Amino acid sequence: MSKKDFKVAIVGAGVCGVACAIMLAQQGVDVEIFESTSRFGEIGAGIGLGPNSIRILKDLGVFDDVFKQSGEEDLNMVAYRYISGMEGHELFYDYPLLEEQDRGLGIARSSLLDGLVKHIDPSLVHFNKRCTDVTQSPDNVGRSILHFQDGSHAEADLVIGADGIKSKVRSVAFGSTSNATFSNTVAYRGLVSYDKLKDAGIGTDLSGGIVCFIGKDKHIITYPIRGGKVINVVAFVTVGEVLKGEALPRSSWVVPATTKELSTDYEGWGRDVSILISQLSDVNKWSIHVIHPPMKSYVHGRTALIGDAAHAMFTHLGAGAGQGLEDGYLLARLLSHPATNASNLTAVLQTYDEIRRPRAQDVWERSYNSGEATEGRGPHGYSPEGIRMDVADMFSPVWHHDLSEDIDIAKRQLHDRGAF
Ligand SMILES: Cc1cc2nc3c(=O)[nH]c(=O)nc-3n(C[C@H](O)[C@H](O)[C@H](O)COP(=O)(O)OP(=O)(O)OC[C@H]3O[C@@H](n4cnc5c(N)ncnc54)[C@H](O)[C@@H]3O)c2cc1C
Repeated sequence: MSKKDFKVAIVGAGVCGVACAIMLAQQGVDVEIFESTSRFGEIGAGIGLGPNSIRILKDLGVFDDVFKQSGEEDLNMVAYRYISGMEGHELFYDYPLLEEQDRGLGIARSSLLDGLVKHIDPSLVHFNKRCTDVTQSPDNVGRSILHFQDGSHAEADLVIGADGIKSKVRSVAFGSTSNATFSNTVAYRGLVSYDKLKDAGIGTDLSGGIVCFIGKDKHIITYPIRGGKVINVVAFVTVGEVLKGEALPRSSWVVPATTKELSTDYEGWGRDVSILISQLSDVNKWSIHVIHPPMKSYVHGRTALIGDAAHAMFTHLGAGAGQGLEDGYLLARLLSHPATNASNLTAVLQTYDEIRRPRAQDVWERSYNSGEATEGRGPHGYSPEGIRMDVADMFSPVWHHDLSEDIDIAKRQLHDRGAF
């Protein structure tokens, strides 16, 4: 039985849409999810959850199930160890673990989603529902109609677009000029057995969290998943100026790639990088896109965007999903507040936008700066000292942000506006 006089429709059952739905349902808000694919699914790669993401998952009461799925015995992730990608693999900088709570979790994406979906009532999720349009209901003022590719419709008082970087909700409901833009960086992604790497003689210890092999205009991130048995590898190559240079020709955002192609890009790098590349299988090449220029608002009328649909960012801080979780958390907390009802939804959404947009955009910019620093284009240049200066304190503001303080500010704003 819904505690509210309004109904929420979420488009997209990725990590951010599902987490937001869990929280709304827990709080007694009438919510449904519409997903284009035929089942819950994630790509076969890893994802790093920072301490800010973990706090949210714990608050939702879903963390234990996510952690169980990870196969880890403990939180396995600390911030980056920056190591030269060149022969000798000199340690450039070991990002300090300031607090024990700064540990994160490296987890297979599918395991994260599996842990989350245990907490959602299956009857709330509708698969094979590709949203093609969102229009205003001619009969019910303020209500939206979602149109799906199969010809069916659904009606809701509030639509949340959690449909990823290519968001249809963003394009149809916002008519937005802020769009997915190619960054001029590609990422080769693959998984490899850690035993295989050790057998091949890798010297760098990859078991203790995130390793970042750095070099000019390229870098490789590794971290363990599946109880340390598997190493997640993402190798970045930037051509030209990030976001400003000449775009690489590309037919599709994700294409299969070969280790030969990757070795050519990383020719001249050190021994451990060669070993890492030679042992990879099933490599895909991703053209990294980001939302740029930034959205002027995450809200249009009674439609809101969360996650990559609102602010897909560079992958260089491992923070994108965390920002989507923060969006969903704040939005769900406001929507489920006892003072929220159909008559003040627009004000609640405006407040969501005003609080979340500056925060997510700050992390977006940090994710850009992190890539620039790591690939030797930061203000202090490509040297151990330069990198140290440019990456110092990079993660702390992302991880230590006080979301409960944001919720208090939002409530005060709504009170001052007369909405609460
Ligand atoms: C190489 C790489 C590495 C990354 N590493 C990290 C990391 O370590 N840590 C981190 O926090 N983030 C990381 N990110 C970012 C992270 O992957 C994203 O921020 C996160 O997955 C976004 O989740 P989402 O739910 O917003 O969107 P998505 O995961 O894209 O989910 C969108 C969902 O909407 C569905 N959908 C799409 N269109 C429609 C439609 N029209 N109708 C209905 N459904 C639709 C899709 O099928 C999908 O299920 C990385 C990204 C990349 C590319």
